[in-house]
Amino acid sequence: MIELRHVTKRYGAKEALRDVSLTAPDGCVLGLLGVNGAGKTTALNLMTGYFPPDGGQVLVDGRDMQEDPRGCKRAIGYLPEVPPLYDEMTVREFLAFVARLREVKARGIPAHIRDIAGLCGLEEVFHRPLGKLSKGFRQRVGFASALCGDPPTLIFDEPTVGLDPRQVVEIRELIRTLGKTHSVIFSSHMLSEVQQLCSQVVILHRGRVVKQAALGELSGGGELLLRLEAAGPAARLVPALKGLPCVRRLRVTQGSRPDLTGCVLTCDAAPDPARGDAQTQIFRLLCALDMPLRLLAPEGDSLEEVFLRLTRGEEEGETP
Ligand code: ATP
Repeated sequence: MIELRHVTKRYGAKEALRDVSLTAPDGCVLGLLGVNGAGKTTALNLMTGYFPPDGGQVLVDGRDMQEDPRGCKRAIGYLPEVPPLYDEMTVREFLAFVARLREVKARGIPAHIRDIAGLCGLEEVFHRPLGKLSKGFRQRVGFASALCGDPPTLIFDEPTVGLDPRQVVEIRELIRTLGKTHSVIFSSHMLSEVQQLCSQVVILHRGRVVKQAALGELSGGGELLLRLEAAGPAARLVPALKGLPCVRRLRVTQGSRPDLTGCVLTCDAAPDPARGDAQTQIFRLLCALDMPLRLLAPEGDSLEEVFLRLTRGEEEGETP
């Protein structure tokens, strides 16, 4: 388990993290989510002991990173955003080198790196120089080097950035596989990625934790998200929708055509015994307004709603 307790980190006058507390429990895949500059890399660098915090504590399995850096670092495998690779080495040479650094016994290294190469899909390039590999394979080598020495916790900084769509799918599959046997913490600014892979989510915004929750808890809460499009002006539609008792929040979006008003509604999931469910109430309202309904569909990406709300605050057109 990795814990940040009331951690602060400054770069000169810039406060990158302020009073950040978060827990990455054993056996989970935790996604660290935030827009550019939110403090994700800084948080990961603190977890790996790359630099110390200016205030607060970093704990790995209950041990303080500053008191026992060697013991803590042994428990962690790290893949930075750009994996540091020696281009003139072959995959085999590089992994053997990292395994030695990670204090794997010399006799066990050949079998150890073969196993890791198999897990990371590197067999076909095992004897190829790193400088001749595609970005996808280089990223796989980065994963493989994080696995050297069998650390129980793996930390990846934006592991799919810069990869082509096929490589992204392959790397996500690899993270999913590794998540079955390791605790995994990775940063991303892609909501869909976090939604696909993680059981826990931490949302960072301007150097602070604005949410830590299990993925299911984020999208639950008795809420139903609906995407709506109707023909007519927003000035008439929005206040009327906000007046419905089942509507908790509303965010105006771009309609798919200029004459359509779009919005995403966060509604009560439970139907009202007298008025019916949210869809029924909305349908009746639009009939009464004589505004043709063009779209009313459940919205799957509820993490996106949570993320937008927490990282942008309440916007115009959104009710609290
Ligand atoms: P990205 O998604 O762009 O990688 P991030 O969420 O990982 O962003 P960090 O790299 O942790 O964010 O940066 C947090 C803040 O600290 C940003 O405002 C960044 O500009 C600033 N920062 C990061 N590293 C340094 C540094 N070495 N010196 C000064 N400021 C820094």
